[in-house]
Amino acid sequence: MQKRSIPYGRQTITGEDEKAIIEALHHPYLTQGPKIKEFETAFAEYVGAEYAVAVSNGTAALHLCALALNVKEGSGIITTPITFAASANCIKYCGGKISFADIDPETALIDIHSVRKILESSPAGTYQGIIPVDFAGYPVNLEELKELADEYGLWIIEDACHAPGGYFTDSKGEKQSCGNGKFADLAIFSFHPVKHIACGEGGMITTNDKSLYDKLMMLRTHGITKDAELLVENHGGWYYEMQMLGYNYRIPDILCALGLSQLQRADKGIGRRREIAKKYDIAFKKSGVMHLQHPSDGGHAYHLYIILVKNRKNLYNALRAEGIYAQIHYIPVHTMPYYRSIENGISIKMPNAEQYYEKCISLPMYPALTDEEQEFVIEQVIKNS
Ligand SMILES: *Cc1c(COP(=O)(O)O)cnc(C)c1O
Repeated sequence: MQKRSIPYGRQTITGEDEKAIIEALHHPYLTQGPKIKEFETAFAEYVGAEYAVAVSNGTAALHLCALALNVKEGSGIITTPITFAASANCIKYCGGKISFADIDPETALIDIHSVRKILESSPAGTYQGIIPVDFAGYPVNLEELKELADEYGLWIIEDACHAPGGYFTDSKGEKQSCGNGKFADLAIFSFHPVKHIACGEGGMITTNDKSLYDKLMMLRTHGITKDAELLVENHGGWYYEMQMLGYNYRIPDILCALGLSQLQRADKGIGRRREIAKKYDIAFKKSGVMHLQHPSDGGHAYHLYIILVKNRKNLYNALRAEGIYAQIHYIPVHTMPYYRSIENGISIKMPNAEQYYEKCISLPMYPALTDEEQEFVIEQVIKNS
């Protein structure tokens, strides 16, 4: 018998996806074709935002957001240490200064009290923005965060890579979808294969702000525009202008065709993820295994399912021996040698993030995980923790 292999996350590719790709492959425009706009329009509608800009990956999306919001030398930005390094790196690309706020131990999301403490203890004008992360698919309460941001005149970039289809419930009892642009100025998503929607590589920015949208569209392709409304001069049909220093962060049409096809199944996928989470919840409650994040509504998007165990290395190795490839999300970004080597602010301890890191482990969570595989994972976790 072949040894089993169960990863922590994995994409699903269907016959529909294959058809969509082949169709796009025969289109005359392999990169700047019609699927880009179609994907943007469908994605904006999916998250409830007015505008969407598709880009080459989630990191490029973050970089463009930082540029669009004028992050530059000396700009102070606050983010969480429990995230993928890209959430912080985008600020460093622009020469800005990153500060980390500690996490709430119940959720592993950025702790609003910790953000407030940083703001209160810094001279006015030190900070320009906050990058909260909907970590593991658990949406940050952006209504609360925006109140604080407004007090200090800060913008918000929501890193929603883990949470397309997620929502939090606001103070009026309304569901607020991740990336809907109601509280955050900009939101970003990734279409890396372990995320909900797989393009191979791909990313998206959503916003309700037309001027940021126009700027992002230019920055995505060298800072160039052909939009007649935006041109300073107009010499004729061939005319374009480079109005700012941008990049080539375009995503090919073929990948947008795949993304669009995957988006049709997104709700089904998230439904399956929530089913898997519920089964883990019930099994672990019975056996006393602690899991992270206990949302009070159904808005968790479950990119990850995380448990907290004392002897984490032991469990990690035992699972691997059984072909279960659990992962650790994340090694706190502020402890990375690069971040340790720069800026004195980063030598500050983040006790909650560091304690969380000692215990966390992400179990297999993806729509194609079978009941039988999940039962095997549960059995092995209980046996080894
Ligand atoms: C995946 C991810 C990114 C970066 O996305 P890429 O498409 O891999 O560049 C950024 N932030 C978070 C939280 C992520 O999980």
